[in-house]
Amino acid sequence: MNKRDHVMNAVLVGIGLGALVEPTGGETMAEAILMISVPVLLGALVPDIDTVMGDHRKTFHNLPLLVGFVAFPYTFGNLQYVWIGIVTHYVLDVAGNTRGIALFYPLLDREYGLPIGVPANSRVADVVTLLITGAELALAAAILHGMDAGWFQSIPSAVDGVQSALGV
Ligand SMILES: [Zn+2]
Repeated sequence: MNKRDHVMNAVLVGIGLGALVEPTGGETMAEAILMISVPVLLGALVPDIDTVMGDHRKTFHNLPLLVGFVAFPYTFGNLQYVWIGIVTHYVLDVAGNTRGIALFYPLLDREYGLPIGVPANSRVADVVTLLITGAELALAAAILHGMDAGWFQSIPSAVDGVQSALGV
């Protein structure tokens, strides 16, 4: 997708997540929106650095880069939420655009995409971007609701179970 659609997607996801996390309204919600949307927007701009450096849709459009940004806050205590921008950028390229991304680069050069999506310069690219943004926020709302409702409480014990089964 083109830069404008990535920016629109990231800003809307940031606003939506802030509102979902702090649905109280007022200053607390405004703060949450700012705190989340700025790093998400910055993250969404990272992958397309490979339009000027390296191979486009490969060098900065892969899972190792995403893992790096997910791990960064745990290691250095900053850059929280930037990974969300990377994820939404990948989703928009994979689901919204005809061309895929090289998820396993530098191991594999192959680009993976869903058999849906439109060319980046298509007149409906904005509409597709808004539809994907809506789906992302619906998923985020479901996950946040699930966390509140305790849907994921069994995951740590499942991880423990797998670890003891593997003897690690
Ligand atoms: Zn891209």
